Amino acid sequence: MKRLQLAVFGLVLALTGCGESVGPILEAGDLALVGAQLIDGTGAAATLDSVIVIRDGRVTAAGSRETTPVPAGAEVIDVTGKSIIPGLVNMHVHYRGESADIKSQFNAQLYYGVTTARSIGSDSPEAVGFLLEANADRPDFPRAYTAGLGFSHPGGFNAGGRNAPATEDEARMLVRKQIELGVQFIKMWVNDVAQPGLKIRPEIRVAIIDEAIRNGALPVAHIDGEADAIQLIRAGLRDFLHSTVLTFGPGGGAPVDNPVPSSEFLQLAVENDVVFTPTLSIRQLGWYFAAHPELLDDPSLRAVFNPDALARWDNPERRAEVVDADNFENSKAAFRQLQDFLKTIHDAGIQVAIGTDAGTANVPFGWGLHREMAIYVEAGLTPMQAIVAATATGAAQLPPLGEADFGTLVPGKVADLVVLDADPLVDIRNTLKIDQVMRMGEWLDRTRLLPIK
Ligand SMILES: [Zn+2]
Repeated sequence: MKRLQLAVFGLVLALTGCGESVGPILEAGDLALVGAQLIDGTGAAATLDSVIVIRDGRVTAAGSRETTPVPAGAEVIDVTGKSIIPGLVNMHVHYRGESADIKSQFNAQLYYGVTTARSIGSDSPEAVGFLLEANADRPDFPRAYTAGLGFSHPGGFNAGGRNAPATEDEARMLVRKQIELGVQFIKMWVNDVAQPGLKIRPEIRVAIIDEAIRNGALPVAHIDGEADAIQLIRAGLRDFLHSTVLTFGPGGGAPVDNPVPSSEFLQLAVENDVVFTPTLSIRQLGWYFAAHPELLDDPSLRAVFNPDALARWDNPERRAEVVDADNFENSKAAFRQLQDFLKTIHDAGIQVAIGTDAGTANVPFGWGLHREMAIYVEAGLTPMQAIVAATATGAAQLPPLGEADFGTLVPGKVADLVVLDADPLVDIRNTLKIDQVMRMGEWLDRTRLLPIK
């Protein structure tokens, strides 16, 4: 009752206060979300009965109802019974196609509350231009970062159409060329899974890292082995994708004999403030839908799924092939090793962010990040730790480093947030029960974001 009176009072004030403009009355004032459980992304305990005040696209106050007054004149929205988390940050995506395609990938992300993403290694100069536009303040786009086109060994992993320098000088020149386009990151693939022996050489890696840092870009590496991780940390790289456990292979791969990270590696990574984005969903989703076809009944998931991949998983014979394959148990055991890697590095104090490889066939934009959070919890992290990984930890790795004005819901930060109908701390899968998404203080019309059939 009191809130309603305040809201009416505010409206009357606004109406009488400025005669001419009637349209944007409420946008100009404060918005107060009142009564939800607030999970602010910092890792602090949730605030059960909260008030979040938003003005001009930013959080101006957030805390318990007792200590956080609703400003006079604020538009009050009763969110009792809901949970609110920051907009999600995906540190590992690959946008695909032309601007129109990327826009629909943006929409898929926004529908699922992903308000920030880093596209990491497959963006043409045209795509870079479009993604830099997205990184400007646009409430209709998620915030986007890019590494342009990544680096590999000539003829090596993902080298086709990318940068594959043969010499250190060429590597430096190609790094500068990417940075001239405006990319914030320089990505390299340090593996030879599919092309044995054709791994980017250590001295080329050093040249890439040095030239990137010299020119204000952040180097990032896809790795599969511990020796490579150690060499890269010593060369100044801090930002890793995937893991040191090579279980990758046809149909999901096989467990390895020695999956446990060495104490030398763990210590070096902690001392150097390394951050890992293990990107586990791409490994799991190669077989997961065969075992869980009921997930495919969800029309929103269907709307964001790659159509060819969806047709494969819709086919019962194809699913049976995967589940009945000799290596199915092996794939699951290999995946468990990757989850154990995540849990081990997290417990050792290494920062972990979240990424999915969205844009690859089996990893849908938007939806995949929720699966990745569930994978983290299955690995042994708490739901709160998974949410922090998916918000603040990622945001802190995006430039300007450590100065992100998003990723948490504390005063001064951009109001990117997700309102949930159920408590994600009780069951992390509740992050999929989305009521509303806000980007830069504006509610998105989710019904218009997806072509749901
Ligand atoms: Zn990737």
